[in-house]
Order: sequence, then C-alpha cells, then structure tokens
Amino acid sequence: MYKHLLAPLDLGFTTLKNRVLMGSMHTNLEEIPGGLERAAVFYAERARGQVGLIVTGGIAPNKAGAVAQHASLMQTPEHAKSHRVITEAVHKEGGKICMQILHAGRYAYHANGVSASAIRSPINKTTPRALETKEVWETIDDYVNSAVMAKEAGYDGVEIMGSEGYLINQFIVKRTNHREDEFGGSYENRIKLPIEIVKRTREKVGKDFIIIYRLSMLDLVPEGSTWEEVVQLAKAIEAAGATIINTGIGWHEARVPTIGTVVPRAGFAWVTKRLMGEVNIPLIATNRINMPEVGEKIIADGAADMVSMARPFLADENLVLKAIENRAHEINTCIACNQACLDHTFEGKLSSCIVNPRACHETELNFLPTQNPKKIGVVGAGPAGLAAATIAAERGHQVDLYEAADEIGGQFNMAKVIPGKEEYHQTIRYYDAMIKKHGVNLSLNHRVTADELLKNQYDEIIIATGVSPRKVNFPGHDHPKVVSYAEVLSGKKTVGKSVAIIGAGGIGFDTAEFLTHNPHHVSPSMDVEKYMKEWGVDMDYATGGAVEKPEPEASPRQVYLLKRSIGKHGKGLGKTTGWIHRASLMMKGVIHLANVTYHKVDDEGFHISVGEEQKVLPVDNVVVCAGQEPLRKLWDDLTSKHDRVHLIGGADEASQLDAKRAIKQASYLVAGI
Ligand code: FAD
Ligand code: NAP
Ligand code: SF4
Repeated sequence: MYKHLLAPLDLGFTTLKNRVLMGSMHTNLEEIPGGLERAAVFYAERARGQVGLIVTGGIAPNKAGAVAQHASLMQTPEHAKSHRVITEAVHKEGGKICMQILHAGRYAYHANGVSASAIRSPINKTTPRALETKEVWETIDDYVNSAVMAKEAGYDGVEIMGSEGYLINQFIVKRTNHREDEFGGSYENRIKLPIEIVKRTREKVGKDFIIIYRLSMLDLVPEGSTWEEVVQLAKAIEAAGATIINTGIGWHEARVPTIGTVVPRAGFAWVTKRLMGEVNIPLIATNRINMPEVGEKIIADGAADMVSMARPFLADENLVLKAIENRAHEINTCIACNQACLDHTFEGKLSSCIVNPRACHETELNFLPTQNPKKIGVVGAGPAGLAAATIAAERGHQVDLYEAADEIGGQFNMAKVIPGKEEYHQTIRYYDAMIKKHGVNLSLNHRVTADELLKNQYDEIIIATGVSPRKVNFPGHDHPKVVSYAEVLSGKKTVGKSVAIIGAGGIGFDTAEFLTHNPHHVSPSMDVEKYMKEWGVDMDYATGGAVEKPEPEASPRQVYLLKRSIGKHGKGLGKTTGWIHRASLMMKGVIHLANVTYHKVDDEGFHISVGEEQKVLPVDNVVVCAGQEPLRKLWDDLTSKHDRVHLIGGADEASQLDAKRAIKQASYLVAGI
C-alpha cells in the first residue's frame, strides 16, 4: 500500500529496508543513571518495529559542545564501550542506527559555550567565547574523533548536526559569524567548518560508514543563508563524502513554529523538494510528517528520497510495522503537542509521550497479558477512561466502557475543533480502533448509575467521569451574555463581534484562538501556503533566511483575554509552545488584560477593574474559561459500597489537569490490575 515509503533504499555499500528514518530526539535517557541500558530497550523496540534507520539524540564531540553541563559525550574508547549496549540491541533486532554528533555552540546551557563569534543568542543568557583559529581546527578533529569512536561503539554511521542554529550553523551565517580568519568572511570560508568535518570524517571512517549531514535548508532568521548558498553547501557536502543529506528547518531562535501542532502536515517538504536534483545522494524530508500516508505522498511526489519522523516514534514504536501490515488506522498518532517530549527535555526531565506514557519508560511500564482475567467497568470515555479501558482489554480483561455522550473522546472533542489542534482528532480515532481491536464493550449515550454498576458485579470499577467547567458568581453571571467555553466550542451557543474571555489558562488561550478564526475559512494548519503567509515565510526564498512580514488573516471579532493574576499571559503554557500561542493571539489583535477584578455583567457590557482603573468592556459576550471542577458523584456513591473502585483523570484531580496526566495515570493503574 505504501509502496514508495516501504521500498528499500540502496546506499551503495548497504541497503536500508525502507525510507523511514527515526529522527534524532534528545530524550535525556543517555544522561540518567542506567540510561544507556534503558535507551537500548527504547531503540530496540523501534528497530523491531521495522524502522529503516534510527538516529540517536545529539551527543557532543567535546565538553564545550555539550548542550548542558552533564550532557553525553562521545570522545573516548570508554564512551564507545558504554554505547555498545545500544548498538548491539538494535542490531539484534535487525535494525541500523547512527549516532548524531551535535555541538551546541552558543546554544549551550553552561558557562563554557563557544561559537564563531562572541554573540549571545536571544534564547540563551550566556555569551559564548569566540573560538580561536587553532581551536576551530581542534573542534574539527573532535568531530572526526567522535565519529571514529561512534564506529568503534558499533554504530552504522553518524549524523553531523549542521542545522537548527547549532555551532555549524553559527559559522555558516553572517549574522553569527563576524570572524576575519580563514573561517569567516566569504561564504566559502564560512562553510569550511562543515566541509572539513565531513571530508576528514570520511577519510577516517572509510567508505562503508553512513554519514548523514543535517543541512539547514531554511534558517528562518534574518541574514540566514540564501537558496543559492544552500545549494552550494549541499554540493560541497556531497563532494566531501556524505552519504545522505537530511533537512534542517529553522533555528531554535526563529519566530516561526516549525514542529508544533499548528504546522500543517509535511508543511516544509517543499523546501527539500527544491533541492531534489541538485545533488546525487538521497535527501530526507522532515517536520510534521506523522503518518505513513504523509511520508508516502512526499516520496511519490518526488519531494524527497526518505522521510524523517522523530516524535511519531515516541507515540508509536510500531508505526512502520503497522504500515507494512496495512494497519495504519491502529497507529497512535503524534499530535505534535510537545507536552511530554520537548517540553520535558527543556525542563531537564525524561521525555515521554502524552499519548504513550511507555515511551522512554519501556523497562518499567508494560502491558503484559493478565494471568487473572477480571470483569472491569470503566465510566467515562475521555482520554483517561479510553486509555484504561483499551489497555485493560488488551491485557485480557473483560471490559465494559460507559459514556454519557453520543461519542467517545471527552474533552478532546472540544480540543479538536480549535484551529491548529485538528490532530487531536487522531487520538480519538486511535482509541476507537483499539476499542474494536481489543473487544471493549462500549455503551454510548449511557449515563451509568452507581446501582447499575453494583448490579453488574464488577471486580474493578474505574471512574473517569472528568470535569465540569467552573462557574463564576459575580452579579450578572446568569446574564444571557455569559456563556461557558463548553457551550461555545460545542457549537451550542454563538457569540457576537466583541467578546471577553475570563481566564487565560490553556482553555482560555484555545478559546481565543477559536474565536479569532473565521469558521468559514480553512485553518492555516491545514493549508501550507496560508500557513507560510500567516507566519511570514517567503516560499519564493527571495532573501537569506526566507523570512518576511507575517500577513495573518484578520480576526472576525475583537477579543479580550482577562485574568485576575498579575504578570505575563500564558506563563503556565508549554515551554516550547507557549510562545506560539502568545504570538498567534498577538497577530489577531487580542487584548491581554491582567490584574483584573470582575464586578458585573449587564446590558452595557462587562464591568471590571484593571488594577485601580475601573472600566466597562462593551462586549456582546463573556466566555467563562475559569478552570474546572471534578465530577465525582459516582465515586462518592460507590466507595462505601465496593472495595475496588478507582478514580482517575479529571474526576480525581481537576486542577492543572491535562491529558498527559490523565492517560499516564490510567496506564499505570491498569498495568497493575
Ligand atoms: P474528560 O475528557 O472530561 O472525559 C470524561 C468523560 O466522562 C466525558 O466524555 C463524560 O461525558 C463522561 N461521563 C461523565 N459522567 C458519566 C457517567 N455517569 N456515565 C458515563 N459517562 C460519563 N489537555 C492537554 O493535555 N493538552 C491540550 O492541548 C489540551 N487542550 C484542550 C483544549 C480544550 C478546548 C479542552 C476543553 C481541554 C483540553 N485539554 C488539553 C484538557 C484535556 O482534554 C483533559 O485534561 C482530558 O480530557 C481529561 O480527561 P478525562 O478522561 O479525565 O476527562
Ligand atoms: P487553568 O489552566 O487552570 O486556567 C484557568 C484560569 O482561570 C486560571 O488561569 C485562572 O486565572 C482563572 N480562574 C480560576 N478560577 C477562577 C474563578 N473562580 N474566577 C475567575 N477566574 C478563575 O485551566 P484551563 O484553562 O481550564 O485548562 C485546563 C487544563 O487543560 C490545563 O491544566 C491545561 O494543562 C490543559 N490544557 C492545555 C492546553 C495546552 O495547549 N497545553 C490547552 C488547553 C488546556 P486567574 O486566577 O489568573 O484569573
Ligand atoms: Fe507527539 Fe505530543 Fe507525544 Fe511529543 S508528547 S511525541 S508531540 S504526541
């Protein structure tokens, strides 16, 4: 079915079994005690899942290049020996694995960062030291040594990280390279660093070793590389001896989202396509490729020879196997939320996945067949109840799942209607497939009662009844202008041309996004050209870096986003996605008000104080997004009457609840039942 994606790729000295690369991800596994053994299990599962080639997270060639003080290095025979556990585990499963060599340059989060010039990055507090000429040559040697050690460790190759704004990129681009020696000035001088690295690495590792070069094809920063320079570099990298060129999109400091869920699927494949035909070695397309059909189309359209998927392999280790066996509908799709992967990495926590808490926890969380099948009743088919019911059934229990609504999904049915969150639909589709596959007995439109549950004599009862939106109680809270987010997002109530939102948490932000989008127009996250225009990406590549003035579509209404607390809006949003939400609402002219006291709502509008200043917002509607309260009535009714009742998800704890906690809690509970 996916004949282009699943076709083997002959690299001359070796053949990849298909065109899918598991892209590099920094999971923090390599940094924790016993982490290499855990990483071995993690990668081996993906190899068993038939992925064509794996690339590890970035490993530094020297101390200065480490992303953080204690980040992993590959410098010595001892380092090489310690990685053998990974390569042997992958090879045992018939897989192939390359180690990524990453020098962070000025993105290093430690005091000894170095770069081409002493210019601080806008996303780092420390200013790097400019490398002396002699040190640049030593750095090249360190890259080569790292590749040699990787070979000794048993890796099939290396990926040299030349994009995303890391050290190599910092040398290539004028904005960060003000040097006057042989590594600065002309473009030829600025690309000398990567070319020497690839050339000297090839000389040392021999011809039968994969060298992937990750080339920044679209910097998305002012004064970035021009298209002509990108082509020139690609040709030089090929001549220097690279086996494959992978695509890099955007520096970390770029103000254009490149992997968030707002990015259309395969949104940047057009960039790789531009380079097709300019070189003779295979090219890999990247970014927001999350399902086999997306990768298949890219290759069939001639936009790349291979596709890289990284986070999708956190969400589902068997993604390729399911494609091979025509079971793509069973794939647990990456929804590009970053909540449990990249956000964790940036917080120094171990990565995982919102929809698959087993990711990076393979040695501690397993859903083994039960030796003691039980009769289990699960109430509520939101993320928590769906995870609990399907995993319990997969393990061999007999499961009844009750849902009061006429569809499964719980609050994800509201999340999926937010422009830019269309992927959330996929999680519901996945659970629907799992319900059918594992034989969960689902009853929709069934608000189950405590008596009914008791009558059915379950061994275990799992309450996942979720939450209800919190109500406000100032004068006028019952005025027709006041509506809840649930009424608005479910389409039960429509709002006027001017709207105030109470509460600037995740749902307040999402509701603002919903209300500033014209429902009759396609969402930019579903249309590549519209997306690029909205965020200021010049698809004609007329200037270096390809950035231009964003041209967002005007909002159909004026929106005010209010909160009682002081400080910046959206502080509690994800580390790697909060800025996207803030920038998006800024572009739509949303007025952010903090330190607000709510007085009353009447026909005139919303009476509030902002600090000491009293004002009336002349709004047509007030949408309440003031958090949630747990729905625990069933639990209260049952606990004294049944000794095996469990409470999970929002019903357990509504404050700061998210789907990550709901699914994880359900998974750990059911793994042990
Ligand atoms: P719910 O999803 O509330 O599901 C509970 C279910 O139980 C409901 O379907 C309900 O009908 C059913 N039920 C209740 N009582 C009964 C009964 N007696 N009998 C039968 N059925 C019953 N979280 C994130 O992590 N990331 C996000 O990006 C994100 N975005 C969101 C965007 C929006 C607009 C909203 C509203 C929420 C978002 N969330 C997000 C929050 C996330 O959806 C919730 O944390 C999650 O749904 C909680 O799961 P749950 O299963 O505990 O509860
Ligand atoms: P939330 O993040 O707790 O925000 C609710 C907001 O309402 C608070 O910021 C609070 O702000 C305000 N509030 C609380 N009680 C109030 C009251 N009595 N009167 C007026 N205002 C009140 O909750 P949420 O927005 O409902 O989101 C629920 C969960 O879903 C969150 O935990 C979030 O993780 C998850 N979610 C995540 C995303 C995402 O993109 N990652 C998106 C949507 C939802 P003040 O106190 O400052 O007024
Ligand atoms: Fe994808 Fe979100 Fe899972 Fe990360 S946490 S892998 S972005 S679904």
